[in-house]
Amino acid sequence: MRKVTVIPGDGIGPEVIGSALEVLRAVDAPLEVHRADMGLACYQRTGSYLPQETLDLLEESDAALFGAITSPTTYDPDYRSPLLRLRKAFDLYANVRPVRRPHPTVGLVALDVVIVRENTEGMYTGVERDVPGGVITERLVTRKACERIVDRALSICREEGRKSVTCVHKSNVLRRSDGLFREVFWERVRGSGIEGRELLVDAAAAALVQRPESLECLVTLNLYGDILSDEAAALAGGLGFAPSVNLGESFALFEPTHGSAPDIAGKDRANPVAAILSAAMMLRYLEMDEKAVRIERTVTEAIGRGIRTADAGGRMGTAEFTKRFLELLSSA
Ligand code: ATP
Repeated sequence: MRKVTVIPGDGIGPEVIGSALEVLRAVDAPLEVHRADMGLACYQRTGSYLPQETLDLLEESDAALFGAITSPTTYDPDYRSPLLRLRKAFDLYANVRPVRRPHPTVGLVALDVVIVRENTEGMYTGVERDVPGGVITERLVTRKACERIVDRALSICREEGRKSVTCVHKSNVLRRSDGLFREVFWERVRGSGIEGRELLVDAAAAALVQRPESLECLVTLNLYGDILSDEAAALAGGLGFAPSVNLGESFALFEPTHGSAPDIAGKDRANPVAAILSAAMMLRYLEMDEKAVRIERTVTEAIGRGIRTADAGGRMGTAEFTKRFLELLSSA
């Protein structure tokens, strides 16, 4: 039995995580599931965005499944994103987003790429300061962070049988910081048995559209990874199909790439597939590969049979989609 903490969060988080939990139950995953609170609704209820009990539960868990949280709309100088705090607390340095078109009839491009994004530094240091006439943002790139993100990308390539890895950077402009990333990439790739390639970030954005088959794994810095993975998700069918994981050395937090989508929250309109696929990724991480494969195959089959929510051109709401998905899963 593996211990898992589930954090539904805000907006559509509880709806899509509810579906994912039903799917986990349906495949009889041997999990001890604990629910925990985090986010805006939690703050309104308890006065804390990230209560200590949640941190304690996570500490004792093998992995976590998280929905989404809504950021406060009014400016609060003391607000620190609970997700960023979790990334720091558990040193979740790699954001891994596999982007695969789940069926040839959705999306625009036949993508099958995994994007490995550095998650702790780059443009997301959050350090900004005023100077006369403007603002300076600090952007941090360390050798250690570059080494471990490249190493992680290489191990993902080995595990998944991906033969090449592409380093995405902008070292023609950011010569020292991105230059360091590029230098470390070539040091680590040499002799790894995986073919190394590189692209400037603007060229990578175009390659995702124009020659997706040439991209197997992208390894990149924080901001580039954020933007490219949303682009890739849109090309492969939309945010409703995009799972992800925040990985550290000894802990992993799985979450759909999409946010809390307050515009459709509580309206039975959310596509739960990204959450379901995130749950499948979690099963694979917990070495329950067969169950993960069964879920992933059912996603492709469901879409092929027209079992779809509105964002994917269907007519079903979240509840009906989940019911039909579970029927298909039980017959698989
Ligand atoms: P947040 O501020 O929490 O990031 P957001 O609405 O700005 O929320 P997303 O939640 O990523 O950003 O969503 C962008 C839009 O995509 C939403 O307005 C919603 O209409 C659509 N969307 C996102 N996720 C889904 C989903 N699972 N199913 C259907 N539509 C979705």
